[in-house]
Amino acid sequence: MKKNFFVSTPIYYVNGDPHVGSAYTTIAADVINRYNKSMGIETHFVTGLDEHGQKVEQAAEQHGLTPQAWTDKMTPNFKNMWAALNIKYDDFIRTTEERHKKAVKKILEIVHAKGDIYKGEYEGKYCISCETFFPENQLNGSNKCPDCGKELTVLKEESYFFKMSKYADALLKHIDEHPDFILPHSRRNEVISFIKQGLQDLSISRNTFTWGIPIEFAPGHITYVWFDALTNYITSAGFENDDKKFDKFWNDARVVHLIGKDIIRFHAIIWPCMLLSAGIKLPDSIVAHGWWTSEGEKMSKSKGNVVDPCNEIKKYGVDAFRYYLLREANFGTDGDYSTKGIVGRLNSDLANDLGNLLNRTLGMYKKYFNGVVVASSTSEEIDDVIKAMFDETVKDVEKYMYLFEFSRALETIWKFISRLNKYIDETMPWALAKDETKKSRLAAVMNILCEGLYKIAFLIAPYMPESAQKISNQLGIDKDITSLKFDDIKEWNIFKEGHQLGEASPIFPRIEIEKEEVKKELKIENPISIDDFDKVQIKVVEILDVDKVKGADKLLKFKVFDGEFERQIISGLAKFYPNYKALVGEKVLAVANLKFAKLKGELSQGMLLTTEDKNGVSLIKIDKTVEAGAIVS
Ligand SMILES: [Zn+2]
Repeated sequence: MKKNFFVSTPIYYVNGDPHVGSAYTTIAADVINRYNKSMGIETHFVTGLDEHGQKVEQAAEQHGLTPQAWTDKMTPNFKNMWAALNIKYDDFIRTTEERHKKAVKKILEIVHAKGDIYKGEYEGKYCISCETFFPENQLNGSNKCPDCGKELTVLKEESYFFKMSKYADALLKHIDEHPDFILPHSRRNEVISFIKQGLQDLSISRNTFTWGIPIEFAPGHITYVWFDALTNYITSAGFENDDKKFDKFWNDARVVHLIGKDIIRFHAIIWPCMLLSAGIKLPDSIVAHGWWTSEGEKMSKSKGNVVDPCNEIKKYGVDAFRYYLLREANFGTDGDYSTKGIVGRLNSDLANDLGNLLNRTLGMYKKYFNGVVVASSTSEEIDDVIKAMFDETVKDVEKYMYLFEFSRALETIWKFISRLNKYIDETMPWALAKDETKKSRLAAVMNILCEGLYKIAFLIAPYMPESAQKISNQLGIDKDITSLKFDDIKEWNIFKEGHQLGEASPIFPRIEIEKEEVKKELKIENPISIDDFDKVQIKVVEILDVDKVKGADKLLKFKVFDGEFERQIISGLAKFYPNYKALVGEKVLAVANLKFAKLKGELSQGMLLTTEDKNGVSLIKIDKTVEAGAIVS
């Protein structure tokens, strides 16, 4: 029997907003969970919210709410986003729930009874934003938070400490003996060298605020948020609440935590040390993924280039968004989110490769057999090649999914899709259809294609559940494809004589990138403040006279009136105003506080403003009723 499977995302911070990073982790967890279920494994997928801490207490106060009412109010932000992204979790945990408080109380009690908690005094530099103390050796003399860059405050308090240092060797041994404990493997060394630098004991209590889980043996103290938050994983698995469930989804399961790479130390060091002390099984794999940039740049609100999952699914559909995130970057490395990238994937992988295979197959079946399956027992070698390739594909996908290499798993499935497209070209159903004696062979070919597509729909269902269902429906099978197990689809005789195929219609419409770019959000380059703009003085000036500059064909010498003074301005406009004398009397715009300059020996006391388009350069003419000297602002 296959081992059960437990997968978690981090619990997200309740004050924040779900963004592309948390969407990425949560989609990945959903995909791996759906995949394991489809392979006949019993699974448990938990996501949720981290609801304690000083900042939550402060935010609630600012909004005139109790912390509990505040977190209740924020929770739908996350639940709605996960629903929009088609995330099917088994458990949504909130750290303010009773079951969680019970679990935290219990683990503290065990660790305390073991002698691993002692009372001390903590004085350190603390980031209120990150709710973390930073030891001097991480600060290099700076007083700024190494994580968020904010100013640190010195905090001194009585605190209880967890003897984390005691478990350094046991943890190193565990990492050494379990090569898949930290994934991707490339992250192992980072963790190992951090442990080898020497672990400090961890302050696990706070007494400067009250919004947290009280510590029974330490009156007046509440549990440090990370100690509280990390425990959510065992709470969800049933620890201290449901022993049977805990055995099933923790002790007898492959336990996997998906996280962003920024919190790997909490998960690969603090959490396992807590579990080692409590005598609880360690997770099997901690999988850290990379960051997303946007159009090649770091995402930031000021740049206006933050990818909003809601916008993206409106534009491309939820399945294309899920597919793109998991296909574009390898899970452990950083990826770049771009319009060109997602449109390219949609058009080539989804519309062309997969969409065409489906359309061609259904179109031909309709044309040759009126969309009704004809059984056939003929078989040629090339059919066995396809069947063997399917078996290989399933094995490779299993291998990659075990290591959370989503992109390579999809690449493998797409190789099979390409192979089926090639199979059409090789078997040439249109030629078979012309020969009455080849009807049976034609049916055999068409059946391989239908069955192949159904298998593809099954394989992509964890990634793109809606599209997979549409493919299944078009093949005439309305059963919920996400409820199927591999055993239901592995054979090649699913489509029986007389089965009515459905109607073909495009599942992935192509997107034109030009149109797409017009819809792109307004972005500005090098934004300036209003103060910057105010430094430039632009005035309306009246042109009193214009002449050529001797020895310089391109330049015109303007005499203008700025409302107060006459000025001479030299401008390279000769080419665009051959009939320059006609400009006399016009009112135009000039920068009035530009440093004076000399051009070809002539003094220039300002700059005339112009526009440039495909017709050339033009002065900006102002209505003649506006007085010379009027300021542009
Ligand atoms: Zn910070």
